[in-house]
Amino acid sequence: MTLPDVVELFGTDDKCRELLERLRWPSDPECPRCHTTALARLDARLLYCKECDYQFSVTAGTIFHDSHLPLQKWFMGVLLLCEARKGMSANQIKRTLGVSYKTAWYLCHRIRAAMKETERPMMDGTVEVDETYIGGKQHTYSKAGYGDSNKQIVIGIRQRGGDLRFFHAQDVKSGTLAKFIKENVSEDVDVIMTDELNAYPGAMKSIDMAAKHKTIKHKAKVYVDGDIHTNTVESAFSLLKRGIIGTWHRISAKHLAAYLDEMSFRFNRRKNANLFLDTLRHMITAPVLTFEKLIA
Ligand SMILES: [Zn+2]
Repeated sequence: MTLPDVVELFGTDDKCRELLERLRWPSDPECPRCHTTALARLDARLLYCKECDYQFSVTAGTIFHDSHLPLQKWFMGVLLLCEARKGMSANQIKRTLGVSYKTAWYLCHRIRAAMKETERPMMDGTVEVDETYIGGKQHTYSKAGYGDSNKQIVIGIRQRGGDLRFFHAQDVKSGTLAKFIKENVSEDVDVIMTDELNAYPGAMKSIDMAAKHKTIKHKAKVYVDGDIHTNTVESAFSLLKRGIIGTWHRISAKHLAAYLDEMSFRFNRRKNANLFLDTLRHMITAPVLTFEKLIA
């Protein structure tokens, strides 16, 4: 999908709604209140439920609800965020779409909220787990940064040849690492690769995975020892950091998890031609995100 495609295919409110209806209700439109499909269509936009005397459109009760922004601009915003591998700032969206900063900021956050994985199957095969530190002073993004309270910890878990997941963690203690690994990695995993951080052995032991744990010794400057490396998760970290430095400049700790969701959602679909439609489908089926909730 390109920007000219979006302009051509979804250049009117009706065309946008037609697609959203297909994505939200693959078979028949359904009342968001009582879920009946016995509905009357009033016009291209409005549906009416006799059961609960409710008049609604496809955006009712979704992330698009109550938005004054034309759907055509929403669609363009989605495409821009889908195609920006390192993300796009609200300022850039503001300039490109010709909207206010507040509208752009809220738009980005609503799209981002929909880029949350709803299904997270357990990972197996070869899984890499790594931790990194972001924020704080620039140019000091290194593992030596641990202990700097301005830095935020991100844990990355990636199945080789499979999915990537990022998590904003409070610390890198054994218990924390064990929790993330247990929640994401199958007991049937072949091997889990990590660096030599001393919290990993305890974490693996506590969840009975010690026998599957392999460590790469970065301190000894051994970055690749045959098949034992964490390079695939590290390459995802480097993309994340380029996004944060180059695009967003600063991310508050409060919104970090949402940015991590956006980055991993896009990363996991980088070879998927349906990224745009996938994102819209998530948006039309995800719960409402109010401005009050965002700034709370
Ligand atoms: Zn109803």
